[in-house]
Amino acid sequence: MSDDNTHSDRTINLGTTRGFGADIEETDEESNQGLFDDLLSGEPIFENKEVLRPSYTPHQLPHRSDQINKMATILVAALRGETPSNILIYGKTGTGKTASAKFVSKELETTSKKYSTPCDVEYINCEVTDTQYRVLAQLANKFIEENEQLIDERIDSLQSLLSATDSYESRLAEESVTDESSDNQLAAGEGPDSRSRSHSNSVSDPLDSISNPSDSDPNSPSSIQTGNTTPPTQSGSDKTATSDTDGRPSSEETPSESGNFPLETEGSSADRSASTSPESADRSPLAETPFSSAEEIRTRIEELEADRDSFEDVPMTGWPTDRVYSVFFDAVDYSERVVVIMLDEIDKLVEKSGDDTLYNLSRMNSELQNSRVSIIGISNDLKFTDFLDPRVKSSLGEEEIVFPPYDANQLRDILQHRAEVAFKSDVLSPDVIPLCAAFAAQEHGDARRALDLLRTAGELAERAQAETIIEEHVRKAQDKIELDRVVEVVRTLPTQSKLVLFSIILLEKNGVHSINTGEVFNIYKRLCEEIDADVLTQRRVTDLISELDMLGIVNAVVVSKGRYGRTKEISLSVPLEETEAVLLSDSRLSDIDDVQPFVQARFDN
Ligand code: ADP
Ligand code: MG
Repeated sequence: MSDDNTHSDRTINLGTTRGFGADIEETDEESNQGLFDDLLSGEPIFENKEVLRPSYTPHQLPHRSDQINKMATILVAALRGETPSNILIYGKTGTGKTASAKFVSKELETTSKKYSTPCDVEYINCEVTDTQYRVLAQLANKFIEENEQLIDERIDSLQSLLSATDSYESRLAEESVTDESSDNQLAAGEGPDSRSRSHSNSVSDPLDSISNPSDSDPNSPSSIQTGNTTPPTQSGSDKTATSDTDGRPSSEETPSESGNFPLETEGSSADRSASTSPESADRSPLAETPFSSAEEIRTRIEELEADRDSFEDVPMTGWPTDRVYSVFFDAVDYSERVVVIMLDEIDKLVEKSGDDTLYNLSRMNSELQNSRVSIIGISNDLKFTDFLDPRVKSSLGEEEIVFPPYDANQLRDILQHRAEVAFKSDVLSPDVIPLCAAFAAQEHGDARRALDLLRTAGELAERAQAETIIEEHVRKAQDKIELDRVVEVVRTLPTQSKLVLFSIILLEKNGVHSINTGEVFNIYKRLCEEIDADVLTQRRVTDLISELDMLGIVNAVVVSKGRYGRTKEISLSVPLEETEAVLLSDSRLSDIDDVQPFVQARFDN
C-alpha cells in the first residue's frame, strides 16, 4: 500500500514540479536556437495524417459496395463449411482492390469467430513474396503457428477436464468407502472446486476433427480423427449410471455431434454445463465427452503434444519445394476448416515464377481430407492470365470481379470522407478536393494518387505555415509527386539505361535540340569506355530509348526525313537538373567527372 503511494507521488512530482521544469528552460535558453520553435508556432493543419496514408484501412469504402457485396455473396459459403468459388479480382492500381479485399476478409474472420465456424483468411502480397517457395513457406508457417495455438488451447481444456475427472473419481471412491465419516466432508468440499473448473473450461473436444498427421501420408492422408475414434457410446454405462441417479434426460448425453464446427460445440457445451451447475456436481465430467476414462484423456494429451513437437517451421530457403508443399499441405489439413488464400499482386508472382504455385494450390482440394482451400487472386491487369495453364486459368477465374477506375466525382466522395477525419476543421479551401480528384481522375482514376495529392498538399501548406490549404498547394503537390515518381524510376534503371539517359542529358545541357539516335549512341559509347561498361549495339540502344519513352522520361518522336528515311528526335521530358543529380548519385556514373570531352565527341563521327 505505502509502496504504491510513494510511486504515484514520485510520478506526479516528476511531471509537475515547477522547479524541475524551470531548470530545463534555463539550460535550454543557452543552447536552443529556435530550430523547432518556428515550425511549432504554426497552427497544425492535420488532425490525423495517418488516415491519408496508403497503409490505413478505411472503415467505409464508398462506390465499392457492388464489388464488396459480390465478394461476400461468394465467400459466405465458407461460413457454411462449404468451399467458396475461387475469385479473380482485377482493376487498375488505386481502384480499391486491396482495401476492399482486406475489408471483406476482416468481416469474414470476425463473423467466423462469432459463429464459431472455423474459417481462416491468409493474405499474401506477391510483390514481396514472389516465388512458389516463399508463398508456400509463408503459408506453411502461418498454419503451423495456428495449429500450435489450437493444440495448446485443446491441451488446456483437456488438463482441466482431467483434473475435474480425477477429483470426481476420488470423491466417488471415498463416498463408496464411508458414508458418515469426516472424510466425506472433506471430499464434499472438493465438489464446488471441481465443478467450477469443469465449467470454466470446455468439456467437449474443440479439435474433434483434428487428424493425426503421424498416421497420414501427405499423398493420401488417411486422416484418422483421433478425437472421434473413441465412440461416445463407450462411456455409456458410466453415464447411464450417473444420469439415472440424477434423473437427467438422456438426450443431454448427445456428444459433440457437430464434427464440422468443433469450436461451436465447445462453446455450447460449456454453456450447457454452466446452466445446469447445481446438479452436475454429481455427474461425471466425462459425461458429454468422447472419453471414457482419465487414462484416455492422458493418452490424447500425449498425442497432441507429440503432434505439436512434430511440427517443423519451414526455413525461408533451402528445402526442396516438394517438401515445403507437403508440410504446408499437412498443416492446412490438420484440422477441419475453410481456408481462403488471398494472393494480392498475383500477376507479379506469375511474372516472376510462373504458374506452378497456382497450379498446386488449385488442385489441393481433391486431396485434402479435412479442410478446403479457396483462392482469391488480385491483379492490376488481366494479361497475366494468358501465361496460365488453361486449367489454372479456368479454376482461378471461376468468379471474376472487376474494379473499374473511379471518376472525378467518386474520387471527390472518397477524399471528402477521409478529409473529415484527417484535417482540422476549416483548413481546406473549397476547390482543393475537386482539384485533387480531377488530377487523379486523369491518372486512370487512381484513389491512391488522389489521397497522396491531398496529403502532400497539406504537408506543403503546413511547411509554408499557411492556415488553409489552397489550390496552389495542390498544384505544387502534383509537381512534387510527379518528380518523386521520376526520381524513383530513374534511380532504379539498369546501368545501361542510365548511361543512355545520361548521354541525352549531356546533349541537352550543351544546347543540342532534336537529338537523334546516332548522336546519343556516340556519347553513350564514350561513356561506356570511360567506366568500363559493355557497349551495346546501336540497335539495342534504340530499344532502350524506346523504353525510356514508355516510362515517360524522354520523348522520342519519329520524323520523316524525306528520301533520307526516318529518324527519331529525342528530348528529355523530365526536369534536367534533378534527373542528372539522381544519375550522378549512382556510384558507377559518379566516376565520370569531366563530361565536356564526351559532348565534343558527337561531332567526331
Ligand atoms: P489497389 O489495391 O486497387 O491498387 P488500394 O485498395 O490499395 O488500391 O487503394 C488505394 C488507396 O485508396 C488506399 O489508401 C485505399 O484505402 C484508398 N481507397 C481506394 N478505394 C477507396 C474507397 N472506395 N473508399 C475509400 N478509400 C479508398
Ligand atoms: Mg493493391
